Amino acid sequence: MLYSELFTAHLKQLKTGELSTAVEVLIEKAFAVSRTQFWIRKNQPIRDAGGLRKFRRYFRRLLADEPLAYILKEKEFFGEKFMVTPAVLIPRPETELLVEKTLDILGKKPARILDIGAGSGNISIVVALKSRARITAVEASGPAMRVLKKNIARFGMQERVRPLAADFFPKKTRSFHAIVANPPYLSRKDWDALPPGIKCFEPRTALLAGTEGTEALKKIVARAPEYLLPGGHLLLEIGQGQLRAVRAFLKAAGLKETEHVRDYRGIARVIIACR
Ligand code: GLN
Repeated sequence: MLYSELFTAHLKQLKTGELSTAVEVLIEKAFAVSRTQFWIRKNQPIRDAGGLRKFRRYFRRLLADEPLAYILKEKEFFGEKFMVTPAVLIPRPETELLVEKTLDILGKKPARILDIGAGSGNISIVVALKSRARITAVEASGPAMRVLKKNIARFGMQERVRPLAADFFPKKTRSFHAIVANPPYLSRKDWDALPPGIKCFEPRTALLAGTEGTEALKKIVARAPEYLLPGGHLLLEIGQGQLRAVRAFLKAAGLKETEHVRDYRGIARVIIACR
């Protein structure tokens, strides 16, 4: 079989054409070649039997709806490559908005940041890379913690990002200049409607908050004032249609909304408040 035949034969099995890059990416990984090298070799027969076996295994997983990021064990976020396993949520482009806003607010001053539900560490690590802040990255899940630690080491950020096993808030700690979180914010109904690629593979606790969807947001907002310095900021990613509910939580906690940001679909996705 020629490389080009491998490519077209497998592409045809996928439901949509948009996944052609997925096939390319799996070829790159299985045969350890770059996309350019692959296309240069396209009319050569495949001699790498091990690569072919690997490719077929990866491809079966793709057909079974497994997200490409878990097959590759890697996802790009803010231009950086993070290790991901099914223990952590796959970083989403919307969350880059949250990071951008956090960086805007921090500027160049040294600051202490709390990242609640750090997962792969994508938010904490990018903030550390692009500012002078020190981050406490809180994660409740043990398996997710292992991925978080690996990413911290991968980026050599051990001095700046401190992983901490806790549920939402640390026990006793100094106050922070900012708290940032992309908490679970799906309702039971949202969860039921998710496509299988997400529902069957990504960690439920990272996505599903409860019956309402706003349970985790409510908990974070209520306790944020205890952990924020005066003038400190709370930055939250929220779900579609949750702006009003979160505004009410902020009001109840005595925090002032300063801004909200819409994502590329026009959905209010990030809300920022100040103590
Ligand atoms: N902080 C991680 C992210 O934004 C994980 C968030 C989560 O697990 N809910 O991708």
